[in-house]
Amino acid sequence: MKNATKNQRERLANFECESYAKKFIEYRRLAERCVWCGREKPRNKMGLCRHCDNVTKEVKLCANRAAKSRSHTADFDLRAALQMKRDCIGWGDEVRRIIAGPISGYDLEKDFELLARNIVPRSNVHSGDANMFAWTFTPEQRQVLAYLLWKISGEQASRNRKNRARRSALMCR
Ligand SMILES: [Zn+2]
Repeated sequence: MKNATKNQRERLANFECESYAKKFIEYRRLAERCVWCGREKPRNKMGLCRHCDNVTKEVKLCANRAAKSRSHTADFDLRAALQMKRDCIGWGDEVRRIIAGPISGYDLEKDFELLARNIVPRSNVHSGDANMFAWTFTPEQRQVLAYLLWKISGEQASRNRKNRARRSALMCR
C-alpha cells in the first residue's frame, strides 16, 4: 500500500466503501426486527417491540370498549387505535422495501425532501436532485442512505404516532 499511487489508493477506498455498503445491507437483512414497525428493538414472543405491543393492547382495549358502548368516543378511540396499528405496519413495510431494494435516485430525493421539510417547513432543498442521487451513489449506497433516513423518520413516527392517528381518525369519520 506504501507504494500505491494516489489513483490506486482512491480505487481501493471506493471498493471498500462499496463492499461495506453491501455488507451493511446484508446485516440489516439478517437483523431481528419488530414484525410490525421494523425497528431493531427487543421483541416479545409475538415478535413485537414494546411500542407495537402497547398498540396491540390499545387496539384490544378500545375494541372491547366499543363493543360494550356505542358512543362516538369509543368508536373514535377504536378507529385511532386501528390507525396506529396500520401506521406501525406501514413503517415496517417501508424498511423491508428498502432492504429488498432497489432504491432509486427519485426515492432518495423524496426522503431527503421529507427530512428537509421537517427542519425547514415548505422548503424544496432537494427538489430535482434525483439524478444526482442516482449517479453519485451505487445501488447499495443508495439503500444505506435510505435505511439511515428511515431510521430517523421511523423513530420520529413512533413518537408522534398517537397524535397522527387521532388526527387521521378525526378526518375520516
Ligand atoms: Zn414495533
